[in-house]
Amino acid sequence: MDFELPPEDDPRRLAVRDWLAANPRPSGRQLAEAGYVAPHWPAPWGLDADPIHQLIIDDELRRARIRRPDNMIGIGWAGPTILHAGSDEQKDRYLFPLLAGEEIWCQLFSEPNAGSDLANLATRAERDGDEWIVNGQKIWTSLAQFSKFGILIARTNADAAKHKGVSYFICPMDAPGVEIRPIIEMTGAHTFNEVFLTDVRLPAANLVGEVNEGWTLAKVTLGNERVSLSGGGALWGAGPSAGDLLDLARAAGITDPELRQRAAQLHIEAEILRLIRLRTVTAAIKGRPPGPEASVRKVLADEHGQHIMALAKDLLGAAGMLAGDWTEADAAAALTGEGVWGGPGIWHHGYLFSQALTIGGGTGDVQRNIIAERVLDLPHDVDVEAGKTWSEARRDAAVA
Ligand SMILES: Cc1cc2nc3c(=O)[nH]c(=O)nc-3n(C[C@H](O)[C@H](O)[C@H](O)COP(=O)(O)OP(=O)(O)OC[C@H]3O[C@@H](n4cnc5c(N)ncnc54)[C@H](O)[C@@H]3O)c2cc1C
Repeated sequence: MDFELPPEDDPRRLAVRDWLAANPRPSGRQLAEAGYVAPHWPAPWGLDADPIHQLIIDDELRRARIRRPDNMIGIGWAGPTILHAGSDEQKDRYLFPLLAGEEIWCQLFSEPNAGSDLANLATRAERDGDEWIVNGQKIWTSLAQFSKFGILIARTNADAAKHKGVSYFICPMDAPGVEIRPIIEMTGAHTFNEVFLTDVRLPAANLVGEVNEGWTLAKVTLGNERVSLSGGGALWGAGPSAGDLLDLARAAGITDPELRQRAAQLHIEAEILRLIRLRTVTAAIKGRPPGPEASVRKVLADEHGQHIMALAKDLLGAAGMLAGDWTEADAAAALTGEGVWGGPGIWHHGYLFSQALTIGGGTGDVQRNIIAERVLDLPHDVDVEAGKTWSEARRDAAVA
């Protein structure tokens, strides 16, 4: 399961070094045009890089202290979907600005009554000549206020079954009828929003893929994870890691027996997560499809993030009850990649933010359902035909 990266004189490594010598301070656009932002994408946007090639590029960029543009939803979700199902015009128009970080994207999926059960979405899009007219409400839309475009799913056939009749659109966030209202988190920061869509007119060219096939597309991007050896920070890759906290704890020399136990537990969790990551990377290198470890890893990593932040708070003692000095501007800058983690108040902010880890991107319960069904082969939690949860179906069966 363990492996070494190719040696210093590997030609793929030398190619990146030559490029960095010629472009010592590359802009986002230069990185995108060199194919280094998403190397696994096909040309001209990527290099068709296999997993080892991706790891080499990561390694070289890290050594040169070059950060890729930060456009989490654009690069992670919108781009792969447009690559998969977009028209040539959509690829030409959107992909390079998105990779370069010149146009930020957001994700207009969740609704007040459609989160874990996303297929319950009620936002409608109706065809009117060469346009679609969209009406509905989205919620928890991260970064909407900074975004140029949103990926939007909306119901285009109200009579079809829940998972059918959904289409996938590109929505300009400055289109008339798009209203963005801030939601202030308990951290005090404003990162996500409610988005109201009232008679928003989208050109027919903004439909991605086929009409009523959006549900399949919404799932496509989830499987498009880039191979990475680095676990990053505890807050979905941002913020400090267990190692950062344990360095501080070592320097402070914790004597309290309960806190020492928790510090040891953090180390154990971090080690398990490192091994899971190695296993995932090894599978990718050998060309095996990703297994259920993605859900296992998410459950463990999200709870690990909460454990790190809770221990940090407790290590601070009475001072941990104080808010620390963390401004909304700091949070926004951290999320848009300006990288201010490490400033004062970081552990306080991390503690409050870490509560979101087990909710966003599929809750811990939903991930456990996936593990129960796909790994343990237990019955589905929802009786899809009847639209009931498994416990409801079982109760009804018992009553009958
Ligand atoms: C920080 C953050 C950023 C986000 N950013 C975005 C974004 O940019 N765009 C976007 O569209 N959405 C975004 N979301 C929303 C996120 O996808 C939803 O919060 C998530 O899918 C859960 O949906 P919900 O909040 O409606 O909770 P619900 O689905 O209503 O869940 C409520 C509770 O019921 C449990 N539950 C639900 N179904 C089941 C089940 N079948 N079995 C067992 N338990 C169940 C859940 O685990 C949870 O505890 C973000 C969320 C967070 C926290």
